[in-house]
Amino acid sequence: MKKIYVLLITLAIFCSTFKTYSQASSSSNMDQTPPKLVVGIVVDQMRYDYLTRFYSRYGTGGFKRMMDEGFNCKNNHFNYVPTKTAPGHASIFTGSTPKYHGIISNYWYDKDTKKQVYCADDDSVLPVGTSDKAGKMSPSRMLTTTFADENKLFTQMRGKTIGISVKDRGAILPAGHTADAAYWFHGDDEGAWITSSFYMEALPKWVAKFNASKQAASYLKKWDTYYDIDTYTASGSDLNDYEGGFKGKETATFPYNLKKLKDENGNFSILKITPFGNSLTTDFAIAAIEGEALGADDITDVLTVSYSCTDYIGHNFGVNSKEIEDTYIRLDQDLERFFKVLDKEVGKGEYVVFLTADHGAVDVPAYLHAHNIPSGYLDNKARKKQFDDFLLAKYGTAEVVENISNDQIFLNKDKLQILGLSAIDVQNAIVEEQMTYPHISKAYTREAIVSRDFTEGIEALIQKGFNQKRSGDVVLVNDPAYISYGKTGSTHGSGLNYDTHVPLLFFGKGINHGATTERTNITDIAPTMSSLLGISFPNASIGKPLGYVLK
Ligand SMILES: [Zn+2]
Repeated sequence: MKKIYVLLITLAIFCSTFKTYSQASSSSNMDQTPPKLVVGIVVDQMRYDYLTRFYSRYGTGGFKRMMDEGFNCKNNHFNYVPTKTAPGHASIFTGSTPKYHGIISNYWYDKDTKKQVYCADDDSVLPVGTSDKAGKMSPSRMLTTTFADENKLFTQMRGKTIGISVKDRGAILPAGHTADAAYWFHGDDEGAWITSSFYMEALPKWVAKFNASKQAASYLKKWDTYYDIDTYTASGSDLNDYEGGFKGKETATFPYNLKKLKDENGNFSILKITPFGNSLTTDFAIAAIEGEALGADDITDVLTVSYSCTDYIGHNFGVNSKEIEDTYIRLDQDLERFFKVLDKEVGKGEYVVFLTADHGAVDVPAYLHAHNIPSGYLDNKARKKQFDDFLLAKYGTAEVVENISNDQIFLNKDKLQILGLSAIDVQNAIVEEQMTYPHISKAYTREAIVSRDFTEGIEALIQKGFNQKRSGDVVLVNDPAYISYGKTGSTHGSGLNYDTHVPLLFFGKGINHGATTERTNITDIAPTMSSLLGISFPNASIGKPLGYVLK
């Protein structure tokens, strides 16, 4: 009896071993080839709750397809400040933060030239497709690689990279340093997709053909709600005190006659503040798939698409507006159309897509205030006067400070030296002084940020957003929902959840089906894509691959 028992146990162990082995064996037989195309989608200013608040308005082929077939990281955050467009796009694709990639804001004060610089401006290149300076752009201020750069190195430059966005920075930074092209939309009187000599000497035929097709002009039409406005219950009333609107129309209410309004609102540039700019971006991305034969062979290509209009609309109308609800209903349809083309042209199961945002946005503080939630606006003029008076009284001159921008104070090193002042002493005195201002909740010296290692809270976010060479000498933090902005529309930039919490969806080849409420960081996206492709991580990535997302 005992012998039979031992035999049975041995048999059970053998069977379970064999089963494990056969599973491992079958998984090693799985299709391990990389996807033919990686599509990285950024929806500018998309808060996480736009997935849930408008869920019932979405069809089955856009956002819901990504959730139904793919993986939903529900607790995905930016892990640095400032939560702005250029750092956001750079961080998503480099898996890094401003501390390393150097894109500390959209615009910043350059200490060497003592001038404000733009994240993507480049005087050494020429515009292509326009003669306007809007074409003098490149990724040269970004110091590290994107996963598209690493894919280029891995494939001996054979994998293509194309970046597309209405905003130049939304196209240029994701595509990286080795991109074949980045295209952005020049509005004004041109209404054309343009690039720079950093990428090429002349527009390819397919781009010239697209521009000549007058597709942009076809969107200068009436913008009314897609469905009956009475069904728009996930947003505030259409007429309210919290929206900007367009010049030439008294109220920020539907419908908007773009043909009539365009002359007073920058001609083609008005499209940027409507969902039609996103549709035009989709049209152009579809043209790029065909024009560049993206995903046509077995060497992985990368297409980055950033939808900018969601951001312009949020800034103008606020996160709770009917205009935002309509914009997301329409973007969902654009995504469905885009995915159908990918199914057809690249093949179902042959491509992978991720979708995220470059930052979130705050509810209009005036609206929050009306509902008793602590919020408001900083009086920057009064602050500046008080600060100058303080500097004058303490140091005999306000010139010890040479710039205030992006919630940072830059000291004048030469002046400090002439006056025999210690930079650390001045930083400390300014921190103490700034803490007396209403709605400044925190202030930190450069010394504190670079000499300690913060692991959590706002201090850790500031540290990851702080570039030792490019950032300032004192960093300021506002009270929650207090902003330096007009009293209509939303903005972003803080380390609070309304700005850091954004969607992260994956679907397609190599992606598991599922969801998690575990925290993920924006810097995890690039190493996850690198792992999927089996390539090196971007050179300064600090994120971790999300193993549970990948098959
Ligand atoms: Zn943005």
